[in-house]
Amino acid sequence: MANTATLYINGQWVPAASGATRTITCPADGSDYAVVSEASREDTERAIAAARTAFDAGVWAAVPAPERGSFLLKVAERLRERQDEFARAESGDTGKRFVESQIDMDDIAACFEYFGRLAGQQSGRVVDAGDPSVVSRIVYEPVGVCGMITPWNYPLLQAAWKMAPAIAAGCSFVLKPSELTPSTSILMMDVFAELGLPAGVANLVTGTGPEAGAPLSEHDDVDLVSFTGGLATGKVIAAAAAGTVKKVALELGGKNPNVVFADADFDAAVDNALNAAFVHSGQVCSAGARLVVEESIAERFVNELVRRAEQIRIGGPYDDAAETGPLISGAHRDKVHAYVQAGIAEGARVRCGGRFATDEDGEGLSRGVYYLPTVIDQVQRGMSVVRDEAFGPTVTVETFTDEDEAVAIANDTNYGLAGAVWTQDAGRAQRVAGRLRHGTIWINDFHPYLPQAEWGGFGQSGVGRELGPMGLSEYQEAKHIYQNTAPAVTGWFADHQK
Ligand code: NDP
Repeated sequence: MANTATLYINGQWVPAASGATRTITCPADGSDYAVVSEASREDTERAIAAARTAFDAGVWAAVPAPERGSFLLKVAERLRERQDEFARAESGDTGKRFVESQIDMDDIAACFEYFGRLAGQQSGRVVDAGDPSVVSRIVYEPVGVCGMITPWNYPLLQAAWKMAPAIAAGCSFVLKPSELTPSTSILMMDVFAELGLPAGVANLVTGTGPEAGAPLSEHDDVDLVSFTGGLATGKVIAAAAAGTVKKVALELGGKNPNVVFADADFDAAVDNALNAAFVHSGQVCSAGARLVVEESIAERFVNELVRRAEQIRIGGPYDDAAETGPLISGAHRDKVHAYVQAGIAEGARVRCGGRFATDEDGEGLSRGVYYLPTVIDQVQRGMSVVRDEAFGPTVTVETFTDEDEAVAIANDTNYGLAGAVWTQDAGRAQRVAGRLRHGTIWINDFHPYLPQAEWGGFGQSGVGRELGPMGLSEYQEAKHIYQNTAPAVTGWFADHQK
């Protein structure tokens, strides 16, 4: 794919004003995958202006909500028809296994379908004012112009969680995907255009965060900025947004505990601990990067985890034998490795992995950006390896002796995105789930999510929720309309004022 006019502004494909472009490299093998426009602030400001004009003219906000919903259902249908094309683009940018990208596209279509159905069901509500002459009702209106900034790990999925509810609500928006993974966002704009979304409702700028992204959190004409990404960037965006007191939605990282009690189904728990930590090479915000296992089974459990982690096959998108893929970039792999090295320096022990993959680990792996699945034990709670998000194929092991200690360890994090508890004791499962301070809790499972269930974080994992009814509310303002059908003199102020 080569397209150097990849900015979608006011219904037109345009190059960057500066003419700058960027080459997208596939991390699976280092090949050049795409060439895209590199937007600057000027381009983003143009996109914001287009979104503002479209919103203020009511070209989408005034369309009846059920029609907006029907549009989303058509988007889902088109996405399913073009699934392989989209999946190839996602794998080209991320190096992710093609089959995983196909699953992502299914999930994205399901997200559009969910918000498509929800769109027409939001009729507001009538409030009992306690006075028969008063009509009081709450209506939900689109929040306005939205800035959307998204990461590289699930590029189109993270964008869909924002675009689908924004379109359902009647907003207009400017999307800034990760500079590393713009291809599927470009294809998505093509679908919106083909299906007749009015010009200016959906806009896309491809470029870096500090240049193309920053205006979305700073600009006066943006009413809401919705960001998914790392904690440090989230803080920058929240601070920048404060200048114009815009609404802020943040989906940040996690350091997610996977708590395994001794009575858990051993095989299922080990198998899911592998999934939790190593799916998509751990580049998952909800990755189970902290295994918290009951002391009495810890040795057997970790031995089995290590034995299986050593056998995970890594490879590129179209390697049918591969079970997981590359990291997103050399710079990111260096970061993951530095994190492991810091753990070792602090006294932790690497049980397997802990290094870049070479051709001896798999044919051609040295051409891509691969890191071996890594299990780290002998850790202490204060170590950086336990506290910081690595966002790579690493898992640390902590142990506990009773329920209270398990909960204390699992909650000892600044984050609070997700966690799991493994036990066959139904009462304990519910007790522990109730005490964990995380936005999603799995009992005897790891990773599933539903478009109809809210997703988001406690603590520093974020602000607000995506998906579910609250995921739509993020893109709405509630307005109270109060009508007095029998206006009368109140008599509050004295007669002498007449
Ligand atoms: P980053 O925070 O580095 O980047 C995310 C996005 O923010 C990118 O588009 C980036 O642009 C942009 N950005 C960077 N600086 C600015 C700025 N000053 N102003 C505006 N935009 C900016 O995250 P990653 O892309 O590295 O993604 C990984 C992170 O995302 C992890 O921490 C992960 O946990 C989190 N995440 C959270 C999820 C959740 O649901 N809670 C889901 C998925 C990921 P650029 O193109 O320059 O990088």
